[in-house]
Amino acid sequence: MSQCCVCNKNIISDLFFTPDEEHPSYIFCDSCYRALRELSQRPSETEYRQIDTLFSDFARNTHIPISVRNVYRNADDTYWENKDSAQKYQDLYNRAIDELLLTTGSHFEGYKVTKYLDIISCEIIFKNSFLNSLSANLDDFFTSLSFRERELSGSMEQIERAKKHVMAQFRKKAVSLGANAVLGIDFESTFGSDVVKISVNGTAVTVDKIE
Ligand SMILES: [Zn+2]
Repeated sequence: MSQCCVCNKNIISDLFFTPDEEHPSYIFCDSCYRALRELSQRPSETEYRQIDTLFSDFARNTHIPISVRNVYRNADDTYWENKDSAQKYQDLYNRAIDELLLTTGSHFEGYKVTKYLDIISCEIIFKNSFLNSLSANLDDFFTSLSFRERELSGSMEQIERAKKHVMAQFRKKAVSLGANAVLGIDFESTFGSDVVKISVNGTAVTVDKIE
């Protein structure tokens, strides 16, 4: 098992970034690599400070070759654009997200769980136009079926979009942990007075095909 040279986290998946080809044993985990890339996208001051905190020990650690540490110092657009490996990493990341196995059940046919990583959850809260119009037009609501159907389908569409959005975040979270599968996926919708909360949770794992 390899370790990230910035945060020392164990890297379980094959998803890591090698900052310097001369020193292939120094690798960045998914989170540190993403934080580094944030720097090239001109983050806000708060984001910048968070990233800087993450990297400050790494930048000071003289056991790490200077060429590896320079990746942090040179994290600008030109640097990343010229790196083929950054693109390779991105492709690998996207593929891992596409290939992530998801189930509401507790196992996958033909696979065995090799490691339980963590319970992950994501949520989204949004204003619901259907509920807004419902409270404003309560008297009309039951008499006007066409109104109801129209609003309801609009609302369903909104919920579907929210679900898609939250699932995309969820997949990213799982892949960042090194998971290639998530078990026991559970969606929950909570309706407030004029807001809806959609949340999803599950157990991130690594699985292997049973030979
Ligand atoms: Zn790391």
